[in-house]
Amino acid sequence: MGRIMAKPEVCMGCHLCEVWCAVAHSKSKHIVKAFLYEVNKPLPRLVVEEKLPLTFALQCRHCAEPDCVAACISGALSKDPESGIVVHDPNQCVGCYSCVLTCPYGNILINPRQRGIIKCDLCAGMDTLYCVSRCPNEALVYVDC
Ligand code: SF4
Ligand code: SF4
Repeated sequence: MGRIMAKPEVCMGCHLCEVWCAVAHSKSKHIVKAFLYEVNKPLPRLVVEEKLPLTFALQCRHCAEPDCVAACISGALSKDPESGIVVHDPNQCVGCYSCVLTCPYGNILINPRQRGIIKCDLCAGMDTLYCVSRCPNEALVYVDC
């Protein structure tokens, strides 16, 4: 199991990681089609924090003992025992936002479109971690830990 670490010393604050995370979770997975033509414009699951001159991208840490999973009242959040990914099932989510309140990193995002949340899924089922591989300055790295 690993996690994505930010390197603020080389982050330019360009927000491209947010853009590519959204593209990763779009229907077309195409940067132009996703934002121009898709009815439900894709949303990113990470946030670039700006404490100028410092900027860095933050996403779910996929904690070993996730507070969000313990706090979830409906069983919508779980930790996959094989991959270690903290998984969100929108069909079970009742939108109580207990997870938003308990995540110590502030990495569970309120879905602006419908009641519920969105969070990093480590690009599950995709062939790359979009935020890591598309960062032009290598300011995000995946580390085994
Ligand atoms: S959402 Fe927050 S609490 Fe849950 S695994 Fe990620 S970082 Fe940890
Ligand atoms: S690993 Fe994938 S889902 Fe997670 S923040 Fe990066 S691009 Fe988004």
